[in-house]
Amino acid sequence: MNSPAVTFRHLDAYDHAGAHGWAAAALDSMLARVFAELEPPKPLSIIDWAETYRVLSREETNDYAGAYDLENTPALRGILAECNPAKNRRVIVQKSAQLGYTAGVVCNVLGYHVHWEPCVQVVMFPREKSAKDFDAEKFSPMVRATAQLAKRIRLKSRSDGNSATRKHYPGGLIKFVASNSPSDVKSTSAKIRIVEEPDDTNKDVKGQGNAIALLRERGKTIRNSFELIGGSPTAKGASEIEKEMRTTDQRRFMVTCHECGERHAVEWEHVVIPGMNLTAEELAAPDVDSQWPQREVYGRARHEDAYYVCPHCGLVWTDDERIANIRTAARIAPYYGWEPTSDSPDPGFYGNELQSVFDGSRVPVLAEKFLRAQYLMDHGDPTEMVAFWNSTRGMCWEYSGELPEEEELRKRAEVYAEWSVPAGALVPLLTVDVQHDRLAVTCWVMGRGEEMWLAYWGEVYGQTVVAHQGAWVELEQLLEKTIATPSGVDLRIAACGIDCSDGQTSEASYAFVRKHDRQVRPVLALKGAADAEGRVEIWTPPKSIDPNRKATKASRFGVQIHMVGTAKAKDLILGWAQEGGRVRLAGNGAGRMHWYEGVRDDFYEQMLSEIKIPSRTNPRKRAWKARTDRRNEALDCTVYAIYLSRHLRLHLKRPGMWDLDELRLRQGTLLTLPEPVAVPPQQPDHIEEALNMVQTSELDDAATDMPEQTVADDSALLLQAARAKQAWDAMMRARKGGQRGR
Ligand SMILES: [Zn+2]
Repeated sequence: MNSPAVTFRHLDAYDHAGAHGWAAAALDSMLARVFAELEPPKPLSIIDWAETYRVLSREETNDYAGAYDLENTPALRGILAECNPAKNRRVIVQKSAQLGYTAGVVCNVLGYHVHWEPCVQVVMFPREKSAKDFDAEKFSPMVRATAQLAKRIRLKSRSDGNSATRKHYPGGLIKFVASNSPSDVKSTSAKIRIVEEPDDTNKDVKGQGNAIALLRERGKTIRNSFELIGGSPTAKGASEIEKEMRTTDQRRFMVTCHECGERHAVEWEHVVIPGMNLTAEELAAPDVDSQWPQREVYGRARHEDAYYVCPHCGLVWTDDERIANIRTAARIAPYYGWEPTSDSPDPGFYGNELQSVFDGSRVPVLAEKFLRAQYLMDHGDPTEMVAFWNSTRGMCWEYSGELPEEEELRKRAEVYAEWSVPAGALVPLLTVDVQHDRLAVTCWVMGRGEEMWLAYWGEVYGQTVVAHQGAWVELEQLLEKTIATPSGVDLRIAACGIDCSDGQTSEASYAFVRKHDRQVRPVLALKGAADAEGRVEIWTPPKSIDPNRKATKASRFGVQIHMVGTAKAKDLILGWAQEGGRVRLAGNGAGRMHWYEGVRDDFYEQMLSEIKIPSRTNPRKRAWKARTDRRNEALDCTVYAIYLSRHLRLHLKRPGMWDLDELRLRQGTLLTLPEPVAVPPQQPDHIEEALNMVQTSELDDAATDMPEQTVADDSALLLQAARAKQAWDAMMRARKGGQRGR
């Protein structure tokens, strides 16, 4: 018999560690043991484990302390049944509050994989604080209360290497990590990976990409690895959990009516609040005030009498009947009340608070919450209504009218060719967003009052990790590109900005900046500031390289980093709700944005790729969030263009200075012609002098707080412009004369 292959996965093997010397034990005992081990390992589901071993402590819940009983959280049974690595690779739960999800699903999955199927597990929280709170309020209390876990995890043991965010046990360990720490997220390969509240996790972990995707990478090579993602949704189109749910079988919790026997999904739409929608007739009745007394906040609606109705037979359910029907549905295997509504191998669950049997989630309580939210919304504050949708209904809130429609932008496309601009566009800015396999590039050409014209939007494919190769070679060519104008003169790129925030490509970006940065045509290394609300100004003075500080990657390349107040730039470009941004402005003039017919079609959706929505932790503050259904490079590049415009102080330029620029443009034609035959009759100093005043590099060299008035005032400039024009006319005459004389 091949005895070494026998594994001690049987419960008793660990419980009586001293009995490992079974070979020396009595023969009958040994035989019994051997036969027991030869049997396949006793299967025990997480549901059975939870109901056999798990104990809820008083620290976790006051009302339900004691042996864990799924009857108190019936809707979780169907979710737990799918949390099985042998059966599923991932389970997604879009949930409301009050379902007991964290204690009932997350903790039970963790506990089971400490005790019954030990392995490495990692749980990712939005921030370190939420990880520590979870440990203090949920995990450690569970371990202390559950004997089989207390035996395996010595919570206080420093010698075991245990801490608030790390727990060792025989056969594995658990790590609690924060989504904003790349070293945390990337450090552990784990068989069980759990993501809590994905809508609050980091979209971009210090330039290394989406935290959820990074964590997923860590499980790729592990057989039977399992991922559990659960959280409440936020804004429609920008919600991570909504996006994850799209790829699942989207289960709804169905109950059977005790009267008609028909099934339906338990949803808020089946709740009736008496007095809420009185008809004109009812309102005109003489006894309306005694029948439906008017109250503050609630109006004539009576939340205390709110009830649930079967949508099939119209029977009014008492709340006890609702709870009884939920419990009945949740006892039926294999789905335990849940029904898939879409085709996918991955189970996904839509949880809402009406599936809860807790006292705090009774229909009249929820109805009161709804009426209060409705009242506040009618008075201009939608915060609580948004929370009601997200946390009670478990649904995304749709922020309507926050952004214009793509179609609106598409209709405004103007007739001019790519790499050309209409009159008025004078200063071309090339901006670059760096991806691993390509560079996304826009060329915006600025004019008076920061009116801007798109001359190019596209992508250059090729690797971007190694400097001076792949896509970088093509970017060099784009830097030399010229933009045609109606005057027949071509414009050259005035400045270029490159996103250097990605850890893997930043060195190649710095190398490009170092090679191409010139006084006359700056090439800047840009990074988005860590600010989603708009606290950081679009342009702030770049930090100079401090030789005494520890060398950063950038400083080793001798490159300055320019921090871009991206959120504030998005406020300016996109705006939100009534405070519409520039992208909504039609026609011509200051702040207008123009694009050409035939621009690559994804320009429109990418320009509208973020929305500014109230933050979940503080609804008084709004934060920019990426929409999950599209890419956003065109918007990022446009943000950088605004930064470059501020860097070159184009927004401070007076009309007279723009006039001079136009003049300079025409002078440029003259200079590109071969050998002028005659020397201009007047000394060209006027032109030079005037032009020097508007040399942007000179403005840059001035102190950052330089007021615009240090430049001569408009009238003086206009005078100089007139003189310059005279000089130019004279040159033209002289040139013509010279040609005639040939
Ligand atoms: Zn019915």
